[in-house]
Amino acid sequence: MDDRRLFDVGFADSPPPEHEPEVSPRGHTRYGARARNRIRRGEHPLTGGLLHPDAIADPAVREGGPRCGTCIHITTPVGHRGKTWRKCDLIGGGSEATDLRRWWPGCSDWKGTA
Ligand code: SF4
Repeated sequence: MDDRRLFDVGFADSPPPEHEPEVSPRGHTRYGARARNRIRRGEHPLTGGLLHPDAIADPAVREGGPRCGTCIHITTPVGHRGKTWRKCDLIGGGSEATDLRRWWPGCSDWKGTA
């Protein structure tokens, strides 16, 4: 078998993805679809808990209402080689699984910056 087929690269006839992949700050795409599905269900992508009552539960809408990016709990720690990531200080953790996106609708613990 052709090695390129094993890794699904280099084939111009491959169907395009259903949605543009959401690329994480670390260059990974695997969390995008799961995050969007959780938002549609009214769940926060990271915590899995309920969204803030005023949050917009539509992953196509990326502005308005409470957002992680406007929450006092979002932090930007500096990691290895000076890279930065967005985290929630209520959750912690150092892996990509705990990275936040600023556009994500706020969770029930959202507290806006004054
Ligand atoms: S507390 Fe704030 S930063 Fe943390 S997950 Fe909830 S909305 Fe996002």
